[in-house]
Amino acid sequence: MQPDECQFYSRHFSLAEVGEASQQRLKHSRVLVVGAGGLGCPALQYLTATGVGQLTICDGDNVELSNLHRQPLYCPDDVGKWKAKCATARCLEQNPWVKVEAVTTWITLENIEELVGAHDLVLDCTDNFVTNALIHDACYLACTPLIAAAIHTFEGIIHRYMFDSERQACARCLRPDLAEPTGVGSCAERGVMGALPGIFGSIQAEIALHHILKIETLSHATSWIMDLKTMQTRKIGWSQRKECALCATSKLPSLAVLHPNEPEVNITSLDNVDAKARLIDIRETEECVATPLPSQLASEHQPLSTWRNTRLLKHQHYILLCAKGKRSEQLAKNMRLEGYAQVYSLKGGIDAVI
Ligand SMILES: [Zn+2]
Repeated sequence: MQPDECQFYSRHFSLAEVGEASQQRLKHSRVLVVGAGGLGCPALQYLTATGVGQLTICDGDNVELSNLHRQPLYCPDDVGKWKAKCATARCLEQNPWVKVEAVTTWITLENIEELVGAHDLVLDCTDNFVTNALIHDACYLACTPLIAAAIHTFEGIIHRYMFDSERQACARCLRPDLAEPTGVGSCAERGVMGALPGIFGSIQAEIALHHILKIETLSHATSWIMDLKTMQTRKIGWSQRKECALCATSKLPSLAVLHPNEPEVNITSLDNVDAKARLIDIRETEECVATPLPSQLASEHQPLSTWRNTRLLKHQHYILLCAKGKRSEQLAKNMRLEGYAQVYSLKGGIDAVI
């Protein structure tokens, strides 16, 4: 390490647990952070500052004004830009001795194995159950350790999994239906105090450092819970369940078996649509003026160019409309990845109905 770089980490060297050799271990670590939101921002800041040498930031979202009260890597000028790119730029400004790469797509069945396989450790900083389950299962199958966190209102939870080639307990031992919502709701639905994600994202980063430096801390298959209203904490550990569909099988299932493709997002007719479904026209205003909607498609208007998922509810049934059904299909697929499970696109779009 250069003298300036040694100076940068000098407070680490005062710790009995961290000498220059340990700092080198951090420098040679490859950590994937999925989600650059409320948990991801502080986790990334501390992983960068403490010298984790290779960080990859995976997030397919853009910065929104409503993110800023709990995502301090971003400022109002970033609104509308890729979170992964803005976060990468800030991290590189903070520490010039680390490498940071931005992946500006959502993590999916198609890209997750390659991403997880290229890293030594994964931090799950996302907040939807489908993605949480996908990341957990991919890490289990790749024998890649995982540190996950979840927060809501005033409470948070950290889960640690030291997956390796041994068949150890997994999250599905505790919750077989891992991809199903628990009824707690997301931050968008129930709200979150601004500093709460800062606390839990920082703890994720701290446990990541302990993991890399082999410092004894939270055990495998253990969750640590803290309620910031009562300031009470507790730990829950669990062991392997004999019937677990992932870790207790004689032959490991593939990721595709655990996560079958999303059901078809296209519907071809409105005849059998749930009466409570909300139709949303995502065309731009000038398209709506040029081609008014037929009366049977009377719907709300939210142009794609100013689209914000946070205005919607995850359990509501939506049908998206555009001119030919291409933009609405892509948006429906993206929304499903973010946990909006009841979103559909009208196949062929408005042109097919007129
Ligand atoms: Zn299991």
